Amino acid sequence: MKRTTMKKAIIVRGALALTAAALFLIATRGGATPDASSGKKWYKGNLHTHTVHSDGDSTPNEVAAWYKDHRYQFLVLSDHNYLTETAGLNTVFASPEKFLLIQGEEVTTSSGGKPVHINAYHLGSLVNPVQADSVASTIQANVNGIRGARALPSLNHPNFGWAVTSKDLMQVSNLNLFEVYNGHPMVNNRGGGGAESLDEMWDALLTGGKRIHGIAVDDAHNFKVIGKNLSNPGRGWIMVRAARLADADIRAAIEAGDFYASSGVILKDVQAGGGALRIEIQADSATRYSTFFIGEGGKVLKRAEGNNPEYRIQGGEKYVRAKVQASTGDDAWVQPLFPGSR
Ligand SMILES: [Zn+2]
Ligand SMILES: [Zn+2]
Repeated sequence: MKRTTMKKAIIVRGALALTAAALFLIATRGGATPDASSGKKWYKGNLHTHTVHSDGDSTPNEVAAWYKDHRYQFLVLSDHNYLTETAGLNTVFASPEKFLLIQGEEVTTSSGGKPVHINAYHLGSLVNPVQADSVASTIQANVNGIRGARALPSLNHPNFGWAVTSKDLMQVSNLNLFEVYNGHPMVNNRGGGGAESLDEMWDALLTGGKRIHGIAVDDAHNFKVIGKNLSNPGRGWIMVRAARLADADIRAAIEAGDFYASSGVILKDVQAGGGALRIEIQADSATRYSTFFIGEGGKVLKRAEGNNPEYRIQGGEKYVRAKVQASTGDDAWVQPLFPGSR
């Protein structure tokens, strides 16, 4: 970082006590990418991973080390009905602006034989799963339990076991996150045979008036052996735009939808304002990109080619979201805007 920028940062922060840690943070080359327009940074994180505390093949230490070594900035160890505590791990793995473990749990239950799995993020203490008499009421009961613990609920892999449909989710309130992509090989992200894809599910919810954001996750279980039919790490993540790498900042940005989801496409910038949604793709020279701006009913409002797709708000759109498709098969999902509301 240039010295002038550093000086400016110090002046801006002058009113606050500038700790040695913060100085270190400014001076060091962190893993996060600066966001030029906002002064914030993009932090890479995976919100869904298992360890030997449930059905993963590796210890919390090994899993944390994998993500830190692969230049993620934050990680949730979401074991089934088990709270893998992060305080001890963070004394070993956390470092300012480089890596942070955030506490979570995969609250795991079923209804009528259908798996209902809901992740709880920024969780302080274990939440016990609840079974109710339908898929929708089971989701609601666990969302309520997670909210009661002041954590963020997110509906996992809806098409795993063909368990959850948009009709179920339309009946659920206080749920603002779901997995639009999960890297586990058994989760049927694309739908088929008459079942909605997760993109179609998202559009059905947004069209129905739900304010729900889409995340991409690994749901990694297998770190020792790599294979197409195994749930390996590195397949799905989110990039969160925040002022600093801290639990509260990451949480606030996720709640505000200031992030995008990715299965491989990296964006340099996402700007919503001035009557437009503008995306800058961090293009790989060997790869080509198409961006689909999607609105009510899942309708493609515009298809844009190239590395700087843009959609101008026409007026009257219920929502606009974007999906960037790379020729490699990788995608990025930009969170919906709601132009008509304030
Ligand atoms: Zn699950
Ligand atoms: Zn899982």
